[in-house]
Amino acid sequence: MSDTVGVEEKIPRNFITDIIDEDLKEGRASKVATRFPPEPNGYLHIGHAKSICLNFGLARDYKGTCNLRFDDTNPEKEDMEYINSIQNDVKWLGFEWTNICHSSDYFERLYGYAIELIEKGLAYVDELSPEQIREYRGTLKEPGKNSPYRDRTVEENKALFEKMRDGQFKEGEACLRAKIDMASPFICMRDPVIYRVRFAEHAMTKDKWCIYPMYDFTHCISDAIEGISHSICTLEFQDNRRLYDWVLENISIEARPHQYEMSRLNLEGSITSKRKLNLLVKEGIVDGWDDPRLVTISGLRRRGYTPASIREFCRRIGVTKQDNVVEMSALESCIRDDLNTNAPRAMAVLHPIKLVIDNYGEEGVTDTSYTVNNHPEREDLGSRTVSISKELYIDEADFREEANKQYKRLKLGYEVRLRNSYIVRADSCVKDENGKVIQVNCTAVPNSVGENVEGHKPKGVIHWVDANNCFIGTVNVYENLFTVPNPGAAEDFLATVNKNSKTVIENAALEASLKDAVVGQSFQFEREGYYCVDSKNSQPGKPVFNLTVALRDTKKVF
Ligand code: ATP
Ligand code: MG
Repeated sequence: MSDTVGVEEKIPRNFITDIIDEDLKEGRASKVATRFPPEPNGYLHIGHAKSICLNFGLARDYKGTCNLRFDDTNPEKEDMEYINSIQNDVKWLGFEWTNICHSSDYFERLYGYAIELIEKGLAYVDELSPEQIREYRGTLKEPGKNSPYRDRTVEENKALFEKMRDGQFKEGEACLRAKIDMASPFICMRDPVIYRVRFAEHAMTKDKWCIYPMYDFTHCISDAIEGISHSICTLEFQDNRRLYDWVLENISIEARPHQYEMSRLNLEGSITSKRKLNLLVKEGIVDGWDDPRLVTISGLRRRGYTPASIREFCRRIGVTKQDNVVEMSALESCIRDDLNTNAPRAMAVLHPIKLVIDNYGEEGVTDTSYTVNNHPEREDLGSRTVSISKELYIDEADFREEANKQYKRLKLGYEVRLRNSYIVRADSCVKDENGKVIQVNCTAVPNSVGENVEGHKPKGVIHWVDANNCFIGTVNVYENLFTVPNPGAAEDFLATVNKNSKTVIENAALEASLKDAVVGQSFQFEREGYYCVDSKNSQPGKPVFNLTVALRDTKKVF
């Protein structure tokens, strides 16, 4: 698929590009160095795409650098599978990192900086329990109170911290805290924990460490080590910026990166929290992290989204400091625009019933095939042969015995045009024992292919496939995974799952050419929607199709 959507890919100006321009002009920065720092505790989602497009995009636009950094300080939740999927997704989105780094690459140096803080009297080993620490922390209205262990001597703290490292404390028995201010109006400054004990195997460092640094201590130092100029995170870390700066001011490191906060992307009707996504996967509510109903990058890919469409979405939503919720239709319109331009057309009948042309073979009704352009405006997408015979399939929704004038499809006694083919008139129909129509018999107007014939004015066009030359395949149709616009805010978000979000159509009649479709291909099934070949369940010669998006933004979902 070509990249016609999002050709204009330079990041539109935003408050961060303003800051960078100022910094470069005033000499506060000599080059732009960014990083994208996912925690490898799940697969990336559309919210991460916003951060990826910004961080890698800034590096591209300013000819700077962008590192992919795994923020891997929670060993029990992190996994190689996630590390691999993240690299894959970043590459797939079209970006290349300057360096690949891990916070764990810096564990030794981080440990050294922790000792420096201890030596400066700015950190202490606390033996309050995690519950007590929480109690002592106070609230937004009330200041916290000092831990009884706060005034230990430097020597005592050094010895105890070493004991922590040696594995002589159990988890929760001791931690290292920065000594700042238990009365600070910013709770994150009330002697934050900077190291804790965890006896868990780490994906990279295995069992080398049993103490792990906390995010707030690790992130700023990692940024400084890597020479990051602009460290972009989301708004909930606004208060933590004080701690970010405090750590860097109090250790001997020269580089002074700065943190900037932007709003998180919240997408209507979807979950963008790895923890909750993980729950959906673990509970078996979806078929893995790449379920096409999820807005993970891998889910969107399997759904038929192109990298260009996701980048275009991120360009359209922009970068601001105002938290807001973006409508799902904003994402959908990006892939629809892309596929409208780039996807070849094909005919697929999702709920087939037979259409028999009773006068097939008689004079003027003898066509056996057509050469059809794959795209109405794109000659470069070529053409294909579509066969026709006496028996076709049409969609059950395209026939009614009786209907009013609004119904522009096939009804008894009336005519309709078969796409690229004859005008036909429905004469009679056959029903099964339940009264369901299973076959329509019709008469074709001779010599009516591509021609207006006097006395025949069909009101509509319907699609069809040749029943004698098609293949019966599986098509997955999706609806929104949740029944509410903000499932993430629901008390029990699993209760908001839409039980009918996936419909498997096993007997769709697909035009013969689709049999050879392979993973990565997308089509507009005429009058039906955009569909792609599923990457998981397709086999050579037996593609399974997934609905990507409807042809039009029709109904309001919520
Ligand atoms: P999650 O709750 O999904 O784990 P997170 O913020 O903890 O989200 P990280 O892996 O730590 O996930 O995020 C990596 C980077 O992506 C961070 O810089 C983070 O700010 C950014 N990011 C994550 N989610 C979003 C989002 N919804 N919108 C914008 N940026 C995001
Ligand atoms: Mg996180």
